[in-house]
Formats: sequence, C-alpha cells, structure tokens
Amino acid sequence: MIVIKSEYCPQNHHCPSLRVCPAGAIRQEGVKAPYIDQKKCTDCGLCVQSCRVFQQVVTPSTVNK
Ligand code: SF4
Repeated sequence: MIVIKSEYCPQNHHCPSLRVCPAGAIRQEGVKAPYIDQKKCTDCGLCVQSCRVFQQVVTPSTVNK
C-alpha cells in the first residue's frame, strides 16, 4: 500500500509523478499534495522511486500480494 507523506510535498506545483503511474492511480486537486486512488493502485512502486512523498508500507492485506 502506498501512503502520502504530505509533509514532504511543497504543495506549490502540479505533481510530476502523475505521469509516472501506469495505473492512473495518483490524483491531485490543484497543487495540493497528491493522493492515491487505492482501488486503482497496483503497488508497483514506481511512484516511490519518483518522489519521497510516496512511501510503500506493508499491511496485512498486502503481505501475500
Ligand atoms: S504504486 Fe504504482 S500503481 Fe500505485 S500509485 Fe504508485 S505508480 Fe501508481
């Protein structure tokens, strides 16, 4: 599961990581910190490599994915 660390986001620009996500799971309202549409996210990890705002966490439901 990907979580957003909004404290790392300056929230003053359009998020370039939207283009990184192959699933179209990253959303942004204006220039606010992005958020993840968890129903679309496949946990591929590409956004985690693109920006430290995105952090991958292991939850019981993702352990056996
Ligand atoms: S982990 Fe992959 S699918 Fe999920 S939001 Fe990040 S880039 Fe998109």
